[in-house]
Amino acid sequence: MTEPRRSGTEAVGALPTALNPMALSLNENPFPPLPSVRSALSASIEVANRYPEYLPERLRSLIAAHTGLGDEQVVVGAGATGVIMQVLHAMTDPGDRIVMASPTFDGYPIFAQMARLESVPVPLDAHGHHDLDAMASAAADARVVVVCRPHNPTGTIEHAADLERFIRHLSPETVVLLDEAYAEFLAPECRIDAIGLVARYPNVVVLRTFSKAYGLAGLRIGYGFCAPRLARRLWSMQLPFGVAITALVAVAASFDAEAELHQRIRMITSERLYLGMRLRSMGVYSTESHANFVYVPDCGTGWGQFFSASGVRVRHYADGGVRITVGDRRSTSAVVAAVAQAMS
Ligand code: PMP
Repeated sequence: MTEPRRSGTEAVGALPTALNPMALSLNENPFPPLPSVRSALSASIEVANRYPEYLPERLRSLIAAHTGLGDEQVVVGAGATGVIMQVLHAMTDPGDRIVMASPTFDGYPIFAQMARLESVPVPLDAHGHHDLDAMASAAADARVVVVCRPHNPTGTIEHAADLERFIRHLSPETVVLLDEAYAEFLAPECRIDAIGLVARYPNVVVLRTFSKAYGLAGLRIGYGFCAPRLARRLWSMQLPFGVAITALVAVAASFDAEAELHQRIRMITSERLYLGMRLRSMGVYSTESHANFVYVPDCGTGWGQFFSASGVRVRHYADGGVRITVGDRRSTSAVVAAVAQAMS
């Protein structure tokens, strides 16, 4: 007997819940969208029978003006992920090499495979920093090199001067993906002048996203910026009608609500400091994170069973370490309880 066919909505099942203190594995923002962003989104749903712009020119202008860039320097995609794929499609041929730290954002090895590139992983140092000298050597015959600042999963940042020295030593034919997915969480004194950097180095592409600090991961909006010549090449890979109309209105409303978003960013970073302090007080080391997560290396016995038993979902790494997204105080309490169990 065949089972009765389920309706589409039944088959899809439940959506994720906006407020879930246990969901700490994807570096999402713990806050639901701001009311002003929600109402702009609702209005855009009313015109869902219409296509968005053929190419996302209005969104590009909005982002360029807000960031202090020229329109001709910006490309837009389905998250930073979409922009990364755009760069790989425009700038590489199958078989080219891409150098990245290991571990890094899980996406990079996958994107490399999708673009048929050869990944060259370079281990992080003991404190979770990039080994820039080793990466520069590995990049000698590579087409692309990736540096995340802050890095995922460790949250560490490289000094501006070290980063620039690294870039200066690379061939101008090597594309540098400077991934700033978490840049908004940086304290002002830790930020780098990314606009100046792309003005000085025509091979650098800076990546940003609305998925993290802006809390719009479900809408898939990211952007990249670079020198106009390179940007023209990347823009030529812009998918027609590829950015949903929701992206334009959500970004516009978010820029209008920047003060509230900064308040949320401050809450997340102070919660991260609190979590770090609680971990230290239990004798647990975590890397020096500048993002909305912390990385805790292996404790010897493995964290796996303790987090599984607690119901807190964190990201586990092959070396036994875990990356824990910063949530609200309930999240922190659940993490602290799991860690206390492991340490007892
Ligand atoms: N870069 C880094 C370093 C990330 O951690 C992530 C997401 N976890 C991304 C890029 C991709 O983000 P998105 O596609 O959601 O913009």
